[in-house]
Amino acid sequence: MKNILDLSRSELEKEMTGMSAKKFNAAQIMEWVYIKHAEAFEVMTNLPVSLRETLKKYFVIERPTVEKKLVSSGKDTIKYLLKCSDGVLIESVLMKHIDRHTICLSSQAGCAYGCAMCATGSMGFKRNLSAAEITGQVFAALPDMDSGEYSGKFNVVFMGMGEPLANYDNFKKAALMLTEKKAFGISTKRITVSTCGVVPGIENMIRDGLRFNLSVSLHAVNDRVRDMLVPVNKKYRLEKLLTACAKYFAFNGDPVTFEYVMIKNVNDREDDLHELIAIISDIKIDCKVNLIPYNRINIKEFSASTSATIDLWRETLEKEGVICSIRREMGADINAACGQLAGGGF
Ligand code: SF4
Repeated sequence: MKNILDLSRSELEKEMTGMSAKKFNAAQIMEWVYIKHAEAFEVMTNLPVSLRETLKKYFVIERPTVEKKLVSSGKDTIKYLLKCSDGVLIESVLMKHIDRHTICLSSQAGCAYGCAMCATGSMGFKRNLSAAEITGQVFAALPDMDSGEYSGKFNVVFMGMGEPLANYDNFKKAALMLTEKKAFGISTKRITVSTCGVVPGIENMIRDGLRFNLSVSLHAVNDRVRDMLVPVNKKYRLEKLLTACAKYFAFNGDPVTFEYVMIKNVNDREDDLHELIAIISDIKIDCKVNLIPYNRINIKEFSASTSATIDLWRETLEKEGVICSIRREMGADINAACGQLAGGGF
């Protein structure tokens, strides 16, 4: 049995043609599944009875189920523990801002990349998530959005468990479903793809015409420190990564965001700051720097940079004309902040 949520619009249209149904039936089914949240084919009353019967024979409508929810003390962050059909557990996070909601999606169960500041990396890799398991996380969060109206009103960041560009095909299918009018219908501008530096994935997005916001976990300004913090750097060196970022900017035109987790005496020295400014000036693209206070994950002996250091970095970067923000960490009390997704708190 195929899961309807694993099919792109064109794949569903092909299935319809193969069953001697009409191409437009695919759009009707998508509307039922993604907009009306139908969980069974019986309720799809605008489809011929015979088609509903055939669909029941060959397809299922299956999403991960919500096992547990944790709400932060400020009530602005909700972490979801979701169970896939094979029992694998994944996490996603809803962050509620005054003017928007942001859903942080996982693309893999666990992660093979082992970034030093990340709890998910320490779990090891279990498996890739299917497109249905990725978009299924959005369904889980929808009831917790105050407006109850989701169309066009939420942002998505692929920053949860796993590396989205290492699960490229399913990430792509899920991301396209987010922008598909008959599904979630959000603008490509509302989608951010965060990568630890999987260069071929960035090149694939250019090849496939995927214009999303690109966010790169930079975290260090030289290969020596980056090899330690973000081990994928041993395969795709900093220079290669920066070249890929420049190509993506040339293709997309939107600023690339460099994420930088601030770790005391590891990557927050004055030399690092000056090197970062030099790198940004050399690549000549529009970019932003997002400084992230390190969240302790009880795995590494790292400690967070002082707020004075973080403020100094921001002031210096801004003086140099670099757009810079300090990430307001949400949900740290429920282990839902950056780098903390690994079953903690549940
Ligand atoms: S930061 Fe991302 S890529 Fe690195 S280990 Fe964590 S989940 Fe994987």
